Amino acid sequence: MIRSDNAQPSPAPHLDRRPANFSALTPLSLLARAEAGFADSIAVIAGPRRLTYRAFAERCRRLASALQQRGVGYGDTVAVFAPNVPALLEAHYGVPMLGAVLNAINTRLDAATVAHILAHGEARVLIVDRELGDVAQATLALLPAPPLVVHIDDPAFPGGRLIGALDYEEFLVEGDPDFRPVPLRDEWDAIALNYTSGTTGAPKGVLYHHRGAYLNAISNLSLLRLGHQPVYLWTLPMFHCNGWCHTWCITALAGTHVCLRRMDPAAVFALIDEHGVTHASGAPIVLNLLREAARKISRRSDHVVTFAVGGAPPQPALLEKMEALNFRIIHAYGMTETYGPALACDWKAEWNGLRLPARAALMARQGLPSYGISDLIVADPATLAPVPADARTVGEILLRGHTLMKGYHKDPAATEAAFAGGWLHTGDLAVLHPDGYVEMKDRSKDLIISGGENISSLELENVLYRHPAVLEAAVVARPDETWGETPCAFITLRPGTPATEAELTDFCRQHLAGFKMPRTFVFTDLPKTSTGKVQKHLLRQHAAGMTTRGSAPAASSIA
Ligand code: AMP
Repeated sequence: MIRSDNAQPSPAPHLDRRPANFSALTPLSLLARAEAGFADSIAVIAGPRRLTYRAFAERCRRLASALQQRGVGYGDTVAVFAPNVPALLEAHYGVPMLGAVLNAINTRLDAATVAHILAHGEARVLIVDRELGDVAQATLALLPAPPLVVHIDDPAFPGGRLIGALDYEEFLVEGDPDFRPVPLRDEWDAIALNYTSGTTGAPKGVLYHHRGAYLNAISNLSLLRLGHQPVYLWTLPMFHCNGWCHTWCITALAGTHVCLRRMDPAAVFALIDEHGVTHASGAPIVLNLLREAARKISRRSDHVVTFAVGGAPPQPALLEKMEALNFRIIHAYGMTETYGPALACDWKAEWNGLRLPARAALMARQGLPSYGISDLIVADPATLAPVPADARTVGEILLRGHTLMKGYHKDPAATEAAFAGGWLHTGDLAVLHPDGYVEMKDRSKDLIISGGENISSLELENVLYRHPAVLEAAVVARPDETWGETPCAFITLRPGTPATEAELTDFCRQHLAGFKMPRTFVFTDLPKTSTGKVQKHLLRQHAAGMTTRGSAPAASSIA
């Protein structure tokens, strides 16, 4: 029998683990490899700046050393509040080189929430980009014991405000370029603390371990279908699940990280052409923005970009347009608690010949577990009884595996609830197809129950998206005296393409059973989290507060 642990006295000590054949998994080893073999390759591009792997790794070591000299130690938290700039990428290596924990903060948050995060995470240092100087200043004013502040300046970005006296580049100069990383005590030790986006309530602090970060980075190599030395454009925020662990995964292949301060579609197309970008990822909103921009700028390029979309399934119309723009789409599913991608819709060659509607229907499925997930069931969350693979019976997606969070920081009750019955409860409702692919139908909180019938808000949204005037659609439950709840559709129309409530109602009638019909339409912008997810809780609040059918306060009050 092959022993898998050293917990019991060993009957064959010569087969026990030893330093030569067992070491802690950590994504730091990926940078060490890239530096050793690809020292002169370009690791980072940011505007006119270029960093080779030699320079990048040295800067990471300097950061670790400078933090250590300021008293940061093993297990301490270092927060970074910055858009996708090189310093945030450096923190993904420099902070864990000390055994410290990186807390990359969502850049769209307000001062009160950032203050809550800094206090809850007990950040010792806050590294903040000048673009966020005002929010950071307001944040610090709310903290009784503010952390040490280091500001990131950027000659290419004169806006914002520099706060605190310590400049990031000067801070790096304090550090030792030959700093030796502090040995990792255990691969289970925390590497990152990521606060959930709060789509369903107050943000929770999700702790990642080195082992999971390493394994998800490696799993992503196949998920993104990455080749050697890819050129990755950062259209995904690095603060979101550490950029789904691409912060480490691209380095594994000695690829180039092309930093992007802001999601500007024209800049994205220009960077793709200039640097030969091979891969990118993000929420569907990113593709939507690119699609809308492409309508205005005429661009012809044969260059293919592989784009992993997650957060919501890609809509057929979007898929068609992005394919025409030479984007090869990969559909991934995950959540903060799963280090980003946990499932992906693995594409089969035999599907290539299908017509678009059939291909889109297949691609809209969330698919198969990633390599970091050892077990997946779609099951009744209370009894844990798996649903049949009949593409009809709805259950919750439950996961087990290597790339699931350690737990929620300082929140044992929420952690126990998330792992109840020995599975991670995703809160996402899905069916299992006979071919083993998972298709998400809704989030448990988003299900609409009307007259005792379950209505999937995703199904309604899919229908609405098929109407040519609909740019974005989100459907939530609206309390109703007779039915309990009825579907309420929030619609953003495509500019210059009018459509009335009556028209959309007619359209839905052609595609939906009567009991599923949206009873209310609200034309407005959709409120979104910084990661592009529609904040349905705000829409629900809004729907609940509406008195007359369809009457909505000004769009700005919810957007
Ligand atoms: P977050 O923790 O902010 O990343 O949000 C995770 C949630 O986003 C999941 O629990 C799902 O409800 C939703 N989500 C992520 N990926 C997808 C997807 N591919 N399709 C549908 N919903 C998704």
